[in-house]
Amino acid sequence: MKGLKVGLEIHQRLKTHKLFCNCPSMLMEREPDGWVMRMMGISRSELGSVDPAARFELLRQRKFLYGIYFDETCEVEVDESPPLEMNREAIEIAIRIAKMLNMDVVDEIHTMRKIVVDGSNTTGFQRTALIAIGGEDSVIRTNQGEVRIATLCLEEESAFIAETGSDFVRYKLDRLGIPLVEIATHPDIKSPEQAKEVALRIGRILRATGKVMRGIGTIRQDINVSIEGGARQEIKGVQEPDLIPVVISREVDRQLNLLRIRDEISERGIVEEDIGGFFELSDVLKKAEKGFVRKAIDSGESAFAIYARRMRGLIGREIQPGRRLGTELASYAKVFAGVKGIIHSDELPNYGISSDLVAEIRNRLGIGEEDAFILVISDRKTAEIALKSVADRLKYAIKGIPEETRRALEDGNTEFMRPMPGSARMYPETDVLPVLSYSFLEALEGWKPEFPEDIIGRLISYGISRDQAEEIFDEEKVELFERVSSLCKNLSKGFVASTLTSMMKYLRREGVKVELIPESKLAEVLLLVDQGALAKEAVESMIRDLAESPYADVKEIAKRYSMSQEELEKLIDDVVSSHRDELMKIGEKAFSMLMGEVMKKARGRVDGRIVSSKLRERIRKEVSQEAL
Ligand SMILES: [Zn+2]
Repeated sequence: MKGLKVGLEIHQRLKTHKLFCNCPSMLMEREPDGWVMRMMGISRSELGSVDPAARFELLRQRKFLYGIYFDETCEVEVDESPPLEMNREAIEIAIRIAKMLNMDVVDEIHTMRKIVVDGSNTTGFQRTALIAIGGEDSVIRTNQGEVRIATLCLEEESAFIAETGSDFVRYKLDRLGIPLVEIATHPDIKSPEQAKEVALRIGRILRATGKVMRGIGTIRQDINVSIEGGARQEIKGVQEPDLIPVVISREVDRQLNLLRIRDEISERGIVEEDIGGFFELSDVLKKAEKGFVRKAIDSGESAFAIYARRMRGLIGREIQPGRRLGTELASYAKVFAGVKGIIHSDELPNYGISSDLVAEIRNRLGIGEEDAFILVISDRKTAEIALKSVADRLKYAIKGIPEETRRALEDGNTEFMRPMPGSARMYPETDVLPVLSYSFLEALEGWKPEFPEDIIGRLISYGISRDQAEEIFDEEKVELFERVSSLCKNLSKGFVASTLTSMMKYLRREGVKVELIPESKLAEVLLLVDQGALAKEAVESMIRDLAESPYADVKEIAKRYSMSQEELEKLIDDVVSSHRDELMKIGEKAFSMLMGEVMKKARGRVDGRIVSSKLRERIRKEVSQEAL
């Protein structure tokens, strides 16, 4: 794709306690024990200017509610106490990662404040510290060339957003302060597929340290995308590597489509003055047929509109699958004014607004058939903010594409989150002393990092396939696999590997919560099979049961699926005696029929080989007795 430039920022949570206090890095399932309320005021940063992202938040007067946990969060998270010194274990992990990427570690680690005004940090800023910068050899090699690593920072995770209302946001503080490394590449990536490859390769290096958290949300990518003639976009929060290429291609499409719209705007000779006005239309829309518009007006809401001359057809133009220029306008209105959405003339007649009413609206706005309009239903003050932001965005379409911070959606589309932050966003954190890196570097003298390929090679040497080895590595089961392998003398390594990888994957797809099962319990199950106390066939059922009650006693559950010697002999007895006539007629040829009968009841509870040898022995005895 010509002129495409992509850079990645990979965020990975580290396996250690929080960055500026001693609270555990643990996410809570239960409701918070209490809530703290804050409002946010904006002051100039130490560097003197007001950041555009900060100014933008000023437009919204919101209450922030923070959920606290008495045992898992402390005064640091609620910003009632200054931060403690930076978590030394987190620094060590970050330096190890930097070394693996051949980066140059800085001499002094300084903590900086990055302004964040959406309330996701109680302090109004996020603390971040540059740990290392890329050197000549700090590159990720891909099939489409090298991608340089720019920086590695140690940062604190933001608070988890639990609920958004029109004038409040609820955050949970369990996540705030979990240490993460942020690895940023230069914008060397030239294709969507290459971006995915880079993310996967960096992800593997991170996992090879054994010091990073795993599971959903523990690693996420921000993607910086720009195309020739377009504008740089920062896309936040892509969690699935498979989604990276989709997000990038769709962003390219969005920009190309917006550029086409710009060209058409220019052909039509539209200028900024063509967009504007502010009209109340409540009396017109009171005549709408049944629907949400009518319902809102009847319940006391008002309707307001602006016009966009000669823009008919452009606002309804699709720019991403299922998203139009109108969707972009709606995002601005939602973000700046907190309205649910907008209605534009390209989607009318609809929502109970008939073509006669559309004509009446046009008449009222003093516009013609070739013109467009945008409607908002709310109170007057909200509508003013909403329609001003819509007008501003629409005027930008005359020039081109605004630089934005966008949020990745699950289907690969993106939506407007906030304007791109300015560069004056960072200033020094005065509550945290700088840390010298030399003692960490000295301690790591002579340390030989194990790279992903080293670990995968070692796994293959156990006698499993490369695919299995890679899967064990990617699923972060290396330690478990090696522990089980060393304990199990009889089980094939292939069986251990496929139980830990393909079976888990299959069950997860079926909705079984296998991630809840402690690793020690999985090891115990495999050990029972190794000792012959459990049939291989029973493993799947055992895992299903353990996912339901992860802390149950494995041996107790195994009783459901294993048959004692006595039970098996009794079962064979029963089957043989109820089929004595056939057995007498055809002798040992009755084996498979009898085996089938026994296995009906024994399948999954005892190894088929044991059943077969016991049954053969028994048949032989029957037949020879008869012969006497
Ligand atoms: Zn704390």
